[in-house]
Amino acid sequence: MTATRVLVLNSGSSSVKYQLLDMADGSKLAMGLVERIGEAASRCVHTLLTPGGSTREQSGHIADHSAALKAVAAELDADGLGLDSPELAAIGHRVVHGGLRFTAPTVVDDTVLQEIERLVPVAPLHNPANIIGIRTARELRPDLPQVAVFDTAFHTTMPEYAARYAIDVATADAHRIRRYGFHGTSHAYVSRRTAALLGRTPEEVNVIVLHLGNGASASAVAGGVCVDTSMGLTPLEGLVMGTRSGDIDPAVIFHLTRVAGMSIDEIDALLNKNSGLVGLCGDNDMREIVRRTEEGDERAELAFDIYVQRLKKYIGAYTAVLGRVDAVAFTAGVGENSAPVRAAAAAGLEGLGLTVDAGLNAVRSDKARLISPEGSRVAVAVVPTDEEREIAQQVYALVND
Ligand code: AMP
Repeated sequence: MTATRVLVLNSGSSSVKYQLLDMADGSKLAMGLVERIGEAASRCVHTLLTPGGSTREQSGHIADHSAALKAVAAELDADGLGLDSPELAAIGHRVVHGGLRFTAPTVVDDTVLQEIERLVPVAPLHNPANIIGIRTARELRPDLPQVAVFDTAFHTTMPEYAARYAIDVATADAHRIRRYGFHGTSHAYVSRRTAALLGRTPEEVNVIVLHLGNGASASAVAGGVCVDTSMGLTPLEGLVMGTRSGDIDPAVIFHLTRVAGMSIDEIDALLNKNSGLVGLCGDNDMREIVRRTEEGDERAELAFDIYVQRLKKYIGAYTAVLGRVDAVAFTAGVGENSAPVRAAAAAGLEGLGLTVDAGLNAVRSDKARLISPEGSRVAVAVVPTDEEREIAQQVYALVND
């Protein structure tokens, strides 16, 4: 029997998300989530996606990531899809930070794990959970290839002049300070999918990808290669996000230290957790913000306008970086679902060749689609992202190499 299944694990600080795919036909067999790991009432939701499948939900204390992965294994086992199945080809792990060392999916051995650990100082919120996920999966199936797929990998093609900050080179190099970019798996998948939607190869098109979820980032992709992206050393830089500020003058930090007497940890929490949309208007859900703007809520209107202003600036900047833009693609929770954000981001950019057709923009669909009028100079697309599928494809290609 050929092993054609790939289990994709996305271990966050207090959650594990997973999907099981069969790469023989690209179908998804199961998916689920363990959340609130370490709390008294952890929650485990498992869905069997094959015909006749259903969803099971349980709650109870799940002490740590190791127990969470064992719970995932038990759920899959109950559906006859257990980790000991000979059909399982590999386990793919989303790893947030691969630094400059990891430019492609990598089979994990002890050395690779040590390298990922060495990157913890630049990804303190994310890499530790990813490492625990990999360790536990290795314990459960030591004989199976465990493959790390890095969020930063797609951006390692950025030219030096896009990746470097204009700060003292020796200091930057000593502390590995540069722009790494994140959401790379999504930017890679969506830029390729957008090319296919236009009936072209990735090499033939230049695309601006706007990944607008709770975290948000933009990238400029020239002929399938990332040439610039909005997130930097950490996922804090760039667009306005659900709870993160995105770009600010770094002197705000000195000011808050000297004038407001805030500690570095307090400022870190302010910029990462209490800024962005939530800091501006108290809500980070775009549905709620749009609803409030319709009622004339001024704080929500201002938050929406600040969010859109930043988006427009990045569309303009990346139009300049690319020289010629074939498509702008909206993806992730806000990008895929919020017609008002898409309309507002494109409004007034006709001079750059961008137009959104109001009728097409209003259609709700989970399919990749164009929302610009036929014959537009720049195609505007809505492309649902699928990071799990992209990870599974990369993992499967590597283990069958
Ligand atoms: P993600 O991080 O990609 O899961 O995106 C999550 C965000 O997407 C939420 O915080 C909402 O702001 C946004 N979102 C989800 N569904 C909708 C919707 N139907 N309309 C507008 N925004 C949405």
